[in-house]
Amino acid sequence: MASSKKFWIIILLLGYNVISKGQSKATFILSSRYFHPNGEGDTLNTLKMIDIYKPDRMDWMYLTNLTSIDSIKRKGLAFSLALNPQIPDSLNYTRKGRIINMYGERLVAPWMRSWHQKNGNWGCVNSNEFRELLYQKTVELIKTGADGVLFDDARLNDHALEWGGCFCENCMARFEVFLNAKNIYNFSKVTFINDILATRNGSRSNEDMNFRKMNFSLSNEFIQFQRESVVNFLKDWYSFVKEQSSVLLYANNGNCIWDDIYSNFDGGISEITPRNLTDSFFIGCKTKIAKLNKSQTFTLVSKSVYENVKFLIYSSIYEFPSILPWDVMVFGEKGNERFYGNPGDFNPVIKILHKGVLISKKKYEEVNVEEFRFKNDGVEYIIILSSEPNLNEQIYTNVYTGCKLIFTHPNYSILQNCK
Ligand SMILES: [Zn+2]
Repeated sequence: MASSKKFWIIILLLGYNVISKGQSKATFILSSRYFHPNGEGDTLNTLKMIDIYKPDRMDWMYLTNLTSIDSIKRKGLAFSLALNPQIPDSLNYTRKGRIINMYGERLVAPWMRSWHQKNGNWGCVNSNEFRELLYQKTVELIKTGADGVLFDDARLNDHALEWGGCFCENCMARFEVFLNAKNIYNFSKVTFINDILATRNGSRSNEDMNFRKMNFSLSNEFIQFQRESVVNFLKDWYSFVKEQSSVLLYANNGNCIWDDIYSNFDGGISEITPRNLTDSFFIGCKTKIAKLNKSQTFTLVSKSVYENVKFLIYSSIYEFPSILPWDVMVFGEKGNERFYGNPGDFNPVIKILHKGVLISKKKYEEVNVEEFRFKNDGVEYIIILSSEPNLNEQIYTNVYTGCKLIFTHPNYSILQNCK
């Protein structure tokens, strides 16, 4: 197939080359959100995945069972544990100190409504009951030997502004103090709520109760008040933790967002989408965290092998720890679901990235193919990655003729000993 070979050589000449200077310090994290098997019939197994993937550490796990925690420690792994605004206060339910709407009803975050959890209601940052509960829970997690605590959904009341909260007694009392400090007096909860209702044409649906998009009397003040409440709450929590422990505090921070809320954490774990898999995104985030002296880990929201391999490569190149594609959140047809990738699809590339040094990377825009050259233990490897199934196979058979093929998948190939 001489003509086919000629075609690929022409295409490859159109690519451009980027030479890396730094050494890759790839870190791979397993984030078994819940310890598996989780009950009868659960065929997933966290410890088995640790043996297969050999992660550097474990993060963002909801786990308090000490036997399970011990089994992770016995594997020699450091780990962080997670908590969220839904810490239960009465058995497994969330009743006290919760975010409520203007009708006095406890709120459930819109994307959690279909989950029907017993502990569906978020705590309110202006409630002392919730504050105590969070402090107790944090101490409990630290005592397990975790070296980090991740606060899931750390925007709390600021986030609830988009779905109807919070109007609890604590918020209303503190809002009045906030207004007084701005020389606004005679605050009345009834008048405040009536002003909001007047803008809503009688609708009482929480779905359309996004206070950021509504214009009512004191709306700007209310938004500012709730945000400041969250920032102050997190600052207090941070001080409380640091007074007794050196554990690091993490949040899941959107796409590398470091604003006045997330800046109250030592590090972030961002759920990014395939759109973020660009040099400019990683470089931008790198610059941001260097300035703030923060750490940043990424997890990809995708079920695609191509996108996940690209994610692992890009994270490694830019020295961001990445969460392995097993038990990660993805968007399914019926909302969010968990993705448990097949280790056989990812381990070959992970082995190269782990201690690999990037020598060069090239992109062939016309055919959507990327080539990465890594050196690992004195051996040079070429990874050819393409979103189009089997395109990489055509390339290695036609162009990289002097190489030894050591692994192939419809979306990527690994070659070695290229002449
Ligand atoms: Zn409140």
